[in-house]
Amino acid sequence: MIRINENYQKLQSSYLFSTISKKVQDFQKSHPEASIIRLGIGDVTRALSPTVIRAFHEGVDELSQDATFRGYGPEQGYAFLREKIAQVDFIDQGCSLDPEEVFVSDGAKCDTGNFQELFAPDIRIAVPDPVYPVYVDTNVMAGRTGSFVKGRYEGLIYLESTKENRYVPSPEQLDSTPVDLIYLCFPNNPTGATATKEELAAWVKYAQKHQALILFDSAYVQFIRDPAIPRSIFEIPGARDVAVEFRSFSKTAGFTGTRAAYTVIPKECVISGENGKTYSLHSLWNRRQTTKFNGVSYPVQKAAAAVYSPDGQKEIRELSDYYLENARLIRLTMTDLGYSSTGGDNSPYIWVETGKDSWEFFDSLLEKTGIVTTPGAGFGTCGEGYIRISAFNHRDKVEEALVRIRNNLGPNKK
Ligand code: PLP
Repeated sequence: MIRINENYQKLQSSYLFSTISKKVQDFQKSHPEASIIRLGIGDVTRALSPTVIRAFHEGVDELSQDATFRGYGPEQGYAFLREKIAQVDFIDQGCSLDPEEVFVSDGAKCDTGNFQELFAPDIRIAVPDPVYPVYVDTNVMAGRTGSFVKGRYEGLIYLESTKENRYVPSPEQLDSTPVDLIYLCFPNNPTGATATKEELAAWVKYAQKHQALILFDSAYVQFIRDPAIPRSIFEIPGARDVAVEFRSFSKTAGFTGTRAAYTVIPKECVISGENGKTYSLHSLWNRRQTTKFNGVSYPVQKAAAAVYSPDGQKEIRELSDYYLENARLIRLTMTDLGYSSTGGDNSPYIWVETGKDSWEFFDSLLEKTGIVTTPGAGFGTCGEGYIRISAFNHRDKVEEALVRIRNNLGPNKK
């Protein structure tokens, strides 16, 4: 008899964004005349840039001739892309990196979700709260948690990220029993917060002391403007021994539908097995990827490599500047209306303190203005009382949304 993986029963019935989408559909049905503006899900709205599109087309054209056709590529990604990533994203920024330490993939969602497969079922895991839900749900599916009780899974350690710690958790929050795996994400989804070098260094020190591993998600690195904010965990001395970094072309270059990302695993990084033996994390992930993944399509990798040309770099800077200007406008309006918020300066997300239940605020904003945000509670218990506003939309839509918000919420009608 075929039976299910019972761990799936522990998952919350629907993924946050499916719930939102259902609410939006219901709203549209009952208000057919309403024009809905989506500032909820973090999906980009602007087209791929000209240099990227040109390379994408060239890649497709190459596939049309036997002489330049390519079938299966290397599972780890083509060398032409891995070399560019290593050079521009790391070496030019002062971090040493071997292109072989870069694993190209079709998404940071898959990579951050799949990575836990490499670890024992009984490791202790720390996740931020609020959190990008993929880190949590994939560990639930793998059986590393108990049931969901009062908004949290038993067995996981939640790193509370609140106004008091500027939404940056610290190892001091942990009790004396060490954790083995730590998920960190900066600039953060959903709070938009960034961590300083000292804050990241504290985590690296913790991981070194306890032989733990940090999974550092920097999917939003492209939005960092403050030169003092670290762009990579590998800027922290010692991090190469204890950290893996995930990056994505999704928000960096508008690839949410095109799909390209990468994971960096330093060769120094080792994890323990039974009998005190140590194993190279790089080799383990290589083994995993070569078994379960067959690479990203050639034209997509060509397009991703074009991001690193001088024109490509200029164009993606312009794209992120555009969204950051949206973010600035959103934050300004919310501040004017008396709402305290964070993010939006080195991040495309603005985390707004609503002063009420976050689903209630979400529902009321949708009902009154037709604007879709994301209720903070959907990201964890510490998200209660907040909404996340995304800056990913066209300027005219953002401006229209802000007019509606001003008309309906101001002066601060909490
Ligand atoms: N990591 C974080 C923190 C994200 O917010 C997202 C997407 O929203 C991803 C990873 C997924 O990126 P990708 O589109 O590369 O799968």
